[in-house]
Amino acid sequence: MSARKLFGTNGIRGLVNVELTPEMAIRVGLAIGTFFGKGKNLILGFDARTSGPLFAKAVTSGLISSGCNVYFAGLASTPALQFAVKNQSLDGGIIISASHNPPEYNGIKVIWSDGIETSHEQETEIENIYFDNDFVYAPWNQLGEKRELLNVNEQYKDAIKTHVDTQKITSKNFHVVVDAANSVGGIACPALLRELGCKVTTINANIDGTFPGRLPEPRPESLGVLSKTVQAIGADLGVAFDGDADRSIFCDGNGTIYWGDKTFAVVIKQYLLKNPGAKIVTPVSSSTLIKDTVDEGRGQLIWTKVGSVTVSQTMKAENANLGGEENGGVFFRSHQAVRDGAMTTALLLNIMAETDKSLTQLIAEQPQYFLEKGKIECFDNKKEALQQKIYEQVKTQNVSTIDGVKIWFNDGSAILIRPSGTEPVFRLYAEAKDPAKALKLVESYTEKLKEILSTL
Ligand code: MG
Repeated sequence: MSARKLFGTNGIRGLVNVELTPEMAIRVGLAIGTFFGKGKNLILGFDARTSGPLFAKAVTSGLISSGCNVYFAGLASTPALQFAVKNQSLDGGIIISASHNPPEYNGIKVIWSDGIETSHEQETEIENIYFDNDFVYAPWNQLGEKRELLNVNEQYKDAIKTHVDTQKITSKNFHVVVDAANSVGGIACPALLRELGCKVTTINANIDGTFPGRLPEPRPESLGVLSKTVQAIGADLGVAFDGDADRSIFCDGNGTIYWGDKTFAVVIKQYLLKNPGAKIVTPVSSSTLIKDTVDEGRGQLIWTKVGSVTVSQTMKAENANLGGEENGGVFFRSHQAVRDGAMTTALLLNIMAETDKSLTQLIAEQPQYFLEKGKIECFDNKKEALQQKIYEQVKTQNVSTIDGVKIWFNDGSAILIRPSGTEPVFRLYAEAKDPAKALKLVESYTEKLKEILSTL
């Protein structure tokens, strides 16, 4: 963490008791409480991590000291806590989670009253309070209180049901396998699916902060057990969550695991059939598949910078109802404008029920793209110049500089060249309908970048 920086892309993250300590968490709680102001009501919950209760207590101390009331929800998914902020008209919330990071990490996310994570400007305010020791302590007789908040998971689950055709889903008797990553994905979602008439088989559903089943990040290569289980029992769908269950990755009845672009495109296609001309929000890192699907459905695509908070905020600003990220985050604003694993699962089942098609069939209808990645070393102080120079070389083409430089070619292929925010590298993501073409794109742009770098 740099001198005056606490927050990364999604909240504060760090190695437990090394980068993120209880002393620090108390001060973060004080800074957040000072930021919201005395008397404000904030929800607080955590995922399965072993250090969750520890940091919950430390942050709670800081909040109470600043005069904020803490509504303690205990174990709950990030989307369930975000929904509760909005649903219970609270002033905000704090989520103790390191999302998809390994078990030795934890983190602190701050939620604004609209249920969306705080903006970078708001985070800077909190950082300034923290680093300047600008804490406002409440007098002894105006300390905040800790209150238990029950039914968070129950209300979240019931709200999701209002956005799908429960009768139609129930009539299909779907069999779904849920891989809960030994965390909060196993709380609301299996119950929701059972209430939707599904037969549910769970794996990694016992809460265990050591994450014995698999690492919390749902990546196709780490979901072998899910894939095999779905195949072995002949289930219709498999879903795997990350540590705080906002992201969801799916597999079809054949056990094929799909990256998030493909399932998001399934959701987009059906959504545009019902909502012609609707706006769809996605980061510029998403596959051309998303663009093709939106174009074909005559929707309006809005590209954003990479990052879930940007997607949420753009959806709000543009009054868009559907957003998504390639890593398995679908945002359905009728419910809430944030990534939501259980909501996404219900949406997919709804589409399978309405179209009477399996996920295999729905994805087979899509154009297929192949992805190739590359990277090149580049010191932080040269990143800006490199990006500018490469842009100058390609600016007459179909190009976007929303985040890095993205170029779309006439044959449907595309490349995104983007400086890493955390490492001294530039990353290249190319895709094409032909895998050799994608590889060639990565190679030729790596050469171009190297040439430019040698002149800087
Ligand atoms: Mg997450």
